[in-house]
Amino acid sequence: MVEEKLYTDYLQIVKSFRKYLEKKQGIVKKEDNLEKKSPEKLLKALYRSMQNCRKCSLFKKRTHLVFGEGNPKAKLMLVGEAPGRNEDLQGKPFVGAAGKILTEALKRFNIPVSQIYIANVLKCRPPANRDPYPEEIETCLPYLKKQIEIINPCLICTLGKFATQVLLNTNQGITFLRGKRQYYKNIILVPTFHPAACIYKPNWKKLFFEDMEIIGKILKSEF
Ligand code: SF4
Repeated sequence: MVEEKLYTDYLQIVKSFRKYLEKKQGIVKKEDNLEKKSPEKLLKALYRSMQNCRKCSLFKKRTHLVFGEGNPKAKLMLVGEAPGRNEDLQGKPFVGAAGKILTEALKRFNIPVSQIYIANVLKCRPPANRDPYPEEIETCLPYLKKQIEIINPCLICTLGKFATQVLLNTNQGITFLRGKRQYYKNIILVPTFHPAACIYKPNWKKLFFEDMEIIGKILKSEF
């Protein structure tokens, strides 16, 4: 009788242990799947997680949150400051006058749009296109950092002072940093002017094109 009881207990322990192992293996498989998810799926998941973001007051006046767009496995990531009026209306980055200058530069230096992903530091438009406030940048920045982590580009080009300073963690000016090779983590980063600034300062347009030529050369010769 005692032996029978011991045997039943033994079977119960074996059963529980097997269940434990199955559960553990299930968790490992689930984690493996997460890691294997494509950049496209990860970006979609990130967008879903923040599409109704209200972490800073900019959500109040936005028409659309502008997440970013392009190739999820892009070699080159262009990072601007914040959506402007047209971007806010259409929910897409760089669709206004600044976008035209950017497209012109990309064409001139044979940088294929298929190799690019474009995003901004801020995902919602600051009223009247004013400069972003430091607290807005701090609040929104984790989204951009996550996008960079997912896309893992070979090269980042920051467009303008705000994107440059925040990714390089520096107070140095854009006129000093532009066109020079820098690093964000282990990714090459080349800053240049924001194309919108070239509209108001036409002499910057020539320098912007010079920097985009550098970007094109790095892409072709190194990646
Ligand atoms: S700017 Fe960024 S942090 Fe602020 S509401 Fe929009 S998505 Fe959220």
